[in-house]
Amino acid sequence: MSEDLLNRTGANILVEALQKNGIKNVYGIVGIPVTDLARLMELRGMKYYGFRREDSAVNAAAGAGFLNKQPGVALTVSAPGFLNGLTALAEATKNCFPLIMISGSSERHIIDLSQGDYEGLDQYNAAKPFCKKAYRVDRAQDVGLAVARAVRTAVSGRPGGVYLDLPADTITQLNNATDQTDMGIFAPVDPAPAQEPSDAAIQRAVDLIKSAKKPLMIIGKGAAYDRAEKQLQELVDATDIPFLPMSMAKGVIPDDSKHSAAAARSLSLKNADVVILVGARLNWMLSYGDAPEFNPNAKFIQLDIDATQFDSSQKIDAPLQGDIQSILNKLVPAIKETNYKVDSAWLDAIAADTTKNDAKFAQRIEKGKTKPEFGFYAAIDPIKEYFEQHPETYLVSEGANTLDIGRDMIGMQLPRHRLDTGTWGVMGVGMGYAIATAIETGKPVVALEGDSAFGFDGMEIETICRYHLPITIVILNNGGIYNGIDKVVPDQPGPTQLDPTAHYDLLAKAFGGDNYFVTNYEEMKETFAKAVASGKPNIINVQLDPAMGKESGHIGNLNPKLNLEPL
Ligand code: ADP
Ligand code: MG
Repeated sequence: MSEDLLNRTGANILVEALQKNGIKNVYGIVGIPVTDLARLMELRGMKYYGFRREDSAVNAAAGAGFLNKQPGVALTVSAPGFLNGLTALAEATKNCFPLIMISGSSERHIIDLSQGDYEGLDQYNAAKPFCKKAYRVDRAQDVGLAVARAVRTAVSGRPGGVYLDLPADTITQLNNATDQTDMGIFAPVDPAPAQEPSDAAIQRAVDLIKSAKKPLMIIGKGAAYDRAEKQLQELVDATDIPFLPMSMAKGVIPDDSKHSAAAARSLSLKNADVVILVGARLNWMLSYGDAPEFNPNAKFIQLDIDATQFDSSQKIDAPLQGDIQSILNKLVPAIKETNYKVDSAWLDAIAADTTKNDAKFAQRIEKGKTKPEFGFYAAIDPIKEYFEQHPETYLVSEGANTLDIGRDMIGMQLPRHRLDTGTWGVMGVGMGYAIATAIETGKPVVALEGDSAFGFDGMEIETICRYHLPITIVILNNGGIYNGIDKVVPDQPGPTQLDPTAHYDLLAKAFGGDNYFVTNYEEMKETFAKAVASGKPNIINVQLDPAMGKESGHIGNLNPKLNLEPL
């Protein structure tokens, strides 16, 4: 055994183990006890990206996990850094994005005797409820194994966040094992094994589809994650089954496909007799599958890696457990063999509703362009047109009205080109996702933000400028959460109010990026394509009328209202 091997610290082993597992990028914030660790990563050829707030760094790693189908890796300091990252660890787990969050921590004996360490916290136990699995690695010789376990846990079965607790003394500890250590650095064989449903389960689903007069497929981000676009397109082409994409599944089948029922969403949900869920959950976003949004007599087929997801809100008549690709590889040929085709009456009904709704929508956009108050439709229309011409551009979106109206207006033609607020509907994910997307794909990214959403992680503009990332941040500034006209009592701004005259664009200027300020449709049209084409970090502050924007956007039904009478 070489001298080198004996002298390797836990940090050396960590870096080698990450590299062995194909991890090239790490997103984080340094400080005690992980500063030298990040330096070592750079010295050994990894790319370390330093952020301004841990949740953004962890969100970036989660976004990378979604885009690459491989765990993204984040690094934080102890207690406060760890806790800042924890929200994003929880979000990644809810979103089923594979992620490993590594935090420096204190030695066990100090924590367990409550001796009061610098940033001392029992992070290992604190993390457990918020991730798929937490591991703590107390000996340098176990670091390789810990990384392999973290990788497998993050990507196998239902993907999610893994927490890896790395005490300061493990980082510096010299490896004193023999050649076991070398064996400890490995990439797991087949980290996410394929899982196929049984023939009987496939047959059950095929029989149900054959009986369907009005089938509807709902495609979720599980299908996007699993890269099932080819099989799904084949299924739709063979059967004519119409589909609804969930927001992050837009582009799995192109939004401009004639089989998209997106513009006839209400009608298709209300009338579908067999609903096929492909990597989508019957959660709040789908009204739990309940009437009146859904047909009360609808039968459900669900494709999901996690069997505990079945029957979460509705009886699932044909559950298909497995990874989406393996399921579809069996299901699509089996359906094709039956020569099943959807009744044209169902397709005609959807087409008629689509035509009607498209016309209404187009009218709304046109009206927006000419009316004196500059609002969301007019501001987003140039972005919509840009994406029609440049489908390879990535889109990140958050904000209430910004998210909802942008989702409806901007078509996606390619899979995994849209990242947004996800399963929880969280604000403050935009900058982390945008940064990771630019880094991982090398393509231009548009971050379409509400002014309130941007506020959660806006300081990452410095990160974006420092790394010269081709990100255009569009801030639809209506001066508030939802809108900027809230006033409850005369002498104080209302709770939803923000500064409607804020020049967010100047933040880009402060750090060497480009800044644009637009106040109407024509200016936005002139500016947007130019800003993206520059390939430089930039912010477009879009000054909307503060009265534009509905409270809670499209989910006002979830917003408890009180009878607010003055005393
Ligand atoms: P959406 O928000 O788009 O409706 P959800 O995140 O609610 O999507 O649902 C995604 C579902 O996909 C989850 O239930 C998850 O278990 C499942 N899933 C994730 N990855 C895979 C995979 N590789 N194969 C099968 N199912 C998956
Ligand atoms: Mg706003």
